[in-house]
Amino acid sequence: MKRLTGLSIFLSLLAATAFTSADDEATLLARAERIHDRIISVDTHTDTALDIVRGREESRIEASPLKLKEGRVDCCFYPIYVGQKKLTDEDRLAAYSYAMSMMTGIEKYIASHPDGMAVALSSDDIIRYKSEGRQCFVMGLENGFPIGNDISKVKEFYDKGARIITLCHNYHNDICDAAIDSVTAYHGLSDFGRKVVAEMNTLGILVDLSHASTETLVDCIQYSKAPVIASHSCVYALKHHPRNLKDAEIVAIASKGGVVQVTTGKWALSDLPKEKVNISTFCDHVEYVRNLVGVEHVGIGTDFDGGGGMVQLENSSKMKFITVELLRRGWTEDDLRLFWGGNVLRVMKEVEDVAAGLQAAK
Ligand SMILES: [Zn+2]
Repeated sequence: MKRLTGLSIFLSLLAATAFTSADDEATLLARAERIHDRIISVDTHTDTALDIVRGREESRIEASPLKLKEGRVDCCFYPIYVGQKKLTDEDRLAAYSYAMSMMTGIEKYIASHPDGMAVALSSDDIIRYKSEGRQCFVMGLENGFPIGNDISKVKEFYDKGARIITLCHNYHNDICDAAIDSVTAYHGLSDFGRKVVAEMNTLGILVDLSHASTETLVDCIQYSKAPVIASHSCVYALKHHPRNLKDAEIVAIASKGGVVQVTTGKWALSDLPKEKVNISTFCDHVEYVRNLVGVEHVGIGTDFDGGGGMVQLENSSKMKFITVELLRRGWTEDDLRLFWGGNVLRVMKEVEDVAAGLQAAK
């Protein structure tokens, strides 16, 4: 029998350790995948729709249907991002025409895809499509600028399939003030913006406060009759970026019954060098929200194809590794069910119920 020297004992111990941790990793991944089979996983924000409609090649799209499938994401929000232009009738009309044509484009893509993909128009649709093994997508607008100052356009977008509207992007529009704008136009919602929120409540469209100023958020908490969400925002206490949510804002969204969908862009997560910002950094933000307001008020909106992603999470195919990290941190399957989709489905259902109630009362 070969005599073990100190070095060979050390090497065999090292090999055993390496095997164990790799084994643990594989076991955790297998467990994560089984959990994803049983739960509904939703990403509430990407800018992928534009890439798809413009025909970008699949390998260069971060949240393509193929990658979402590999990452075990069942439902992805594909809103149309619209850049903020001047508040003139000409620019408003151009934004409206652009948004409508892009929505038609994504609608056609989904309808013509051979894998049975679908546009989800309600929380029940998302649940049903999961049970049928079909991927689904939620349409909407990132920036309410295409509504212009014409309230009837809210219903036009609803009829077109929009179920979420991010009220503004980086600059104020006709609806409200934005988080990083140097101009304060209304100190929150404009008079027209209040009508827009009321109309969204009546129709059943999610009010999305990512990109909105604190005063806009406070107004929406006050005036919205349904819960609100931040579809892709991080925690200001962990990264002092003006687009991130301060504790009081997170508490306000949660107390309204809403949900904070943590985003994945390095810019929003940390001041550390790019190579050190990874899934663990992201999970720190998730756990911060959970510890502040409870696991019922946190989820994920990656912002892939619009600035999202980081080391270990370069695209949607890696999404299941977030589950691996959360399992490692002791999250239960019930917690994961809420985080991945349970919370946002609950909010969507409440938004739908509030709309039904308002319509019945008309
Ligand atoms: Zn955004």
